[in-house]
Amino acid sequence: MERGVRGGTPFIKKGKKMYKELTELVEKSNKIVFFGGAGVSTESGVPDFRSADGLYSMKFEHPPEVMLSKTFFKKHPEKFYDFYRTKMLYEKIEPNVTHHTLAKLEDAGKLTAIVTQNIDGLHQKAGSKNVLELHGSVLRNYCVTCNQQYNMEAIKTEGVPRCECGGIIRPDVVLFEESLNSYILDLAVNHVQESDLLIVGGTSLVVYPAASLVSLCKGKVIIINNSETSYDYQADLVVRGGIGEAFNAINTLVNFLN
Ligand code: ZN
Repeated sequence: MERGVRGGTPFIKKGKKMYKELTELVEKSNKIVFFGGAGVSTESGVPDFRSADGLYSMKFEHPPEVMLSKTFFKKHPEKFYDFYRTKMLYEKIEPNVTHHTLAKLEDAGKLTAIVTQNIDGLHQKAGSKNVLELHGSVLRNYCVTCNQQYNMEAIKTEGVPRCECGGIIRPDVVLFEESLNSYILDLAVNHVQESDLLIVGGTSLVVYPAASLVSLCKGKVIIINNSETSYDYQADLVVRGGIGEAFNAINTLVNFLN
């Protein structure tokens, strides 16, 4: 099986053959890294931030990329928190088959890291340990003045949540206009470089640094997505379909291995 980038044509298969190929690659690999986007969480009921039916198409005073920006947070923390509490905190969400299967793969010693663009903490809830959250987590918050750490309960108050020292508490999430945590990004790069299989799922690969991670992998690359991505040609296998469906197939394999 030649990688598309050399062969020129993406390796797209369908139906049973596609899932057979998928599970065979997973079975053969022992240093798997999973890179996941919003699509992983939409099957748990978390709206996709960037899709057409996600937050961007909702009607607000300003678009989300403004209301969730660093500038807006500084100028209008109260409005920021109104928006953030209503639209970004999802409480009754549970991990789905993708989260659970990834946790099992880590337990089985086949997966070294999960790199995620999601901020909902569902991978940890499913039992995964090495989760690299590129955009932070809604479960963590901190005081901008003294750096005191707070859980999610602390920001569920009315208005702008304040620390004991008087400072404003902010979510430990990467806001628009802010750059990714370089320490987390370095860890992700290292894991991907050492991986023998990179599975990319639930992302159209348009958001930095997803694309650059794909080209760093020296092993096999699988892209699972409902629609075409501009990196399909770099993949050894493209699974065109829902990520939950693909992970159902992997789950059957993992249960068998255990
Ligand atoms: Zn403080």
